Amino acid sequence: MIASKQTHHEGSCLCGRVRFRVEGPVGNMSSCHCTDCRKHSGAAFVTYVEAPKRAFAYVKGDDLIQTHQAESGTTRAFCRTCGSTLACYVDSDDLIEIAAATLDTPIDLRPEYHIYVRSKVSWFDIQDGKPQHRTTSTAGS
Ligand SMILES: [Zn+2]
Ligand SMILES: [Zn+2]
Repeated sequence: MIASKQTHHEGSCLCGRVRFRVEGPVGNMSSCHCTDCRKHSGAAFVTYVEAPKRAFAYVKGDDLIQTHQAESGTTRAFCRTCGSTLACYVDSDDLIEIAAATLDTPIDLRPEYHIYVRSKVSWFDIQDGKPQHRTTSTAGS
């Protein structure tokens, strides 16, 4: 996995009431085109960076965090006040996927690949030349 060089990152929601901090590098930057990510964000896809769950903490506003668990088992965390998509995770994994566009600190990474391209919207063409996986990056397609 390609990881950022920065020692920590900070991010926030649209209204600014929620701030989070990631200790240590983030990595594995990738864009997810799955239906759930599209619906949750209202965007064609969501780009995430990965970090260990223990490295991720809310600096403020953790009482405003609302979560939604999809049928797939993925839980998405968002700000109850403004609706910003912040992160998603599964309970059985010790990694958290952080919505990269909510980071306020600069990031020296570029998305490495696309996942769940089988669910991609028809009106967006992937043109970055990065690998496109029909489902997960480990499913072999
Ligand atoms: Zn907010
Ligand atoms: Zn997704």
